[in-house]
Amino acid sequence: MFVRCLIGQVATMNREKGGRHNQFLDKWLKEFGWLQTRGSGNDLSMICKDCTKAGKKNAFTSGCKNFQRLALVHHMSQVDHKSSAKVSLQQKNFKAASDNASKVSDDSLVKQMRTAYWLSQEEMPPKKFNLLSCL
Ligand SMILES: [Zn+2]
Repeated sequence: MFVRCLIGQVATMNREKGGRHNQFLDKWLKEFGWLQTRGSGNDLSMICKDCTKAGKKNAFTSGCKNFQRLALVHHMSQVDHKSSAKVSLQQKNFKAASDNASKVSDDSLVKQMRTAYWLSQEEMPPKKFNLLSCL
């Protein structure tokens, strides 16, 4: 009885696994930020954004049709993907730093322009500009 039940559970688990083999799950797009799909229906395949952007050549740049979560996890462990993900992260960080730097310098420039404007309004000597800019 116990063995029969166990066999039934294994068979059920295999059916569930079998169902997952051929079916793309939308929740994977949220779970794996680098994942995107190409095509639809029978032409549906999974693509890695990071590897594609980095110009790598692997199953996830040509279009992977192995619709298993394990294939996604395995791809994440590959050296190709890890280096692509690093490049992508560095590009994001560089853009954020660059945007922040230009924002800071814009703020600084606006403050300097206001100071110069105030000096001219008050008819103060220009040599006071440096002193006021340090405040
Ligand atoms: Zn990848």
